[in-house]
Amino acid sequence: MEHLNIPPENHVKVLGGQGWVGLIDHLGTETTIVNAARVSFGKLKTEMDERDKGLLTYLIDNRHTSPLEHMVFTFSVHCPLFIRGQWHRHRTWSYNEISRRYTEIDMEFYTPVKLRKQAESNRQASFLDENFDDDALREEIRQQNLKSLELYNHLLDKGVCREQARGVLPQNMMVTFWGTVDLSNLLHFLELRDSDHAQSEIKEYAVAIKKLIKPLIPNVAAYFAAKGQEW
Ligand SMILES: Cc1cc2nc3c(=O)[nH]c(=O)nc-3n(C[C@H](O)[C@H](O)[C@H](O)COP(=O)(O)OP(=O)(O)OC[C@H]3O[C@@H](n4cnc5c(N)ncnc54)[C@H](O)[C@@H]3O)c2cc1C
Repeated sequence: MEHLNIPPENHVKVLGGQGWVGLIDHLGTETTIVNAARVSFGKLKTEMDERDKGLLTYLIDNRHTSPLEHMVFTFSVHCPLFIRGQWHRHRTWSYNEISRRYTEIDMEFYTPVKLRKQAESNRQASFLDENFDDDALREEIRQQNLKSLELYNHLLDKGVCREQARGVLPQNMMVTFWGTVDLSNLLHFLELRDSDHAQSEIKEYAVAIKKLIKPLIPNVAAYFAAKGQEW
């Protein structure tokens, strides 16, 4: 049996190699989308032609999104707890996660690759200062992660249950979950999270997802690229 925390080759690494996202499975193609849009005519096509590409563009342009819901993706995501919190606000995804009530093995903690500074004007924002000497601070974070793990293990050694002991583990703890979502809601997620308004860590995941799905939705990707978005 494969271990869930060991990413296969085709997963895309993020956060300096500490996190990753992989495409586990998918249902449907761009042809499925145009077939769904034309289902009322009772006809099915097996390959996309130029008219189908035009229809796909029309659907996205006019927010006629329900045909896009017939294409579905399942991702495996390895990310810090604080990113998991942001991700799970997207209610249109279905999620399952490794439970720390069942296992304490293979715990990992995220140490930021580079610390950013707090933006003055926007309390939700940060900015990168290349001259910020953050080596010692990043080491302090790493040590604090390890201290938390030591306390957690100490509590377990004393017989404390996992479900209470885990309360001392930091937001930097890495978690692994599966998320399944249809293309319409995935595009919404990507719009919100591959954005300069989003935290840069979750943005890395959104960019990685685009890389994973682009070969499956070349015309959708081309549509957004033509609108000036990075795909
Ligand atoms: C940059 C940024 C900053 C954020 N800051 C904060 C913050 O400070 N505090 C905070 O709490 N959250 C914050 N969020 C989370 C945000 O409020 C949303 O919860 C999150 O982005 C999910 O978006 P969504 O609801 O559109 O997505 P989904 O939950 O995937 O829903 C997709 C769409 O389905 C529809 N939908 C889903 N559920 C319902 C429902 N119950 N009723 C009606 N329609 C529904 C809506 O049209 C929705 O847009 C932030 C998000 C971003 C991107």
